[in-house]
Amino acid sequence: MAKKFPMNRIKANRVYDVWEIAQALGCHKQTVIRWINNKDLVAETSRKPWLIEGKDLKAFLGARQTKIATNLALHHCYCLGCKSPREPDGKMADYMQQTPETGRLTGLCPECGSLMHKVVRRTDLEAIRPKIEVAVQKASPRLVSPADTRSNVTMQQEGQTHGKTQQG
Ligand SMILES: [Zn+2]
Repeated sequence: MAKKFPMNRIKANRVYDVWEIAQALGCHKQTVIRWINNKDLVAETSRKPWLIEGKDLKAFLGARQTKIATNLALHHCYCLGCKSPREPDGKMADYMQQTPETGRLTGLCPECGSLMHKVVRRTDLEAIRPKIEVAVQKASPRLVSPADTRSNVTMQQEGQTHGKTQQG
């Protein structure tokens, strides 16, 4: 029942208010307001009228359409081998933080064994975890804070000291 909106009517380099979006998409103003209130659509809401950048609106509509097309449940990944959504094999997936807000969910397709990836919001992890077991992986090196790096080095140095054989 979800409606497909005419994305091509939205210009990426334009700024829209709620009313203009409703007119361009042929939907109700309340629909647009709901997207913003749900934090699905990025908008400047610190003053009235609320303003939405065309590129943000396009990104939102694109993501929304992909979701409808594949009908992905939050804990399912899209398998490129099977060309359909699959629940990760063994109900297990890895999560790797990529940005402060998002990360990558990786699981195996139970049908063909392909690796499946999906970008998820960190806030969605709480909803995913009751359904499948998610192992949160350590952040990639560029996201590791200097403090963490130091403690690793200290441990390694201690290990070397203990392992040293006497010389001379
Ligand atoms: Zn597959």
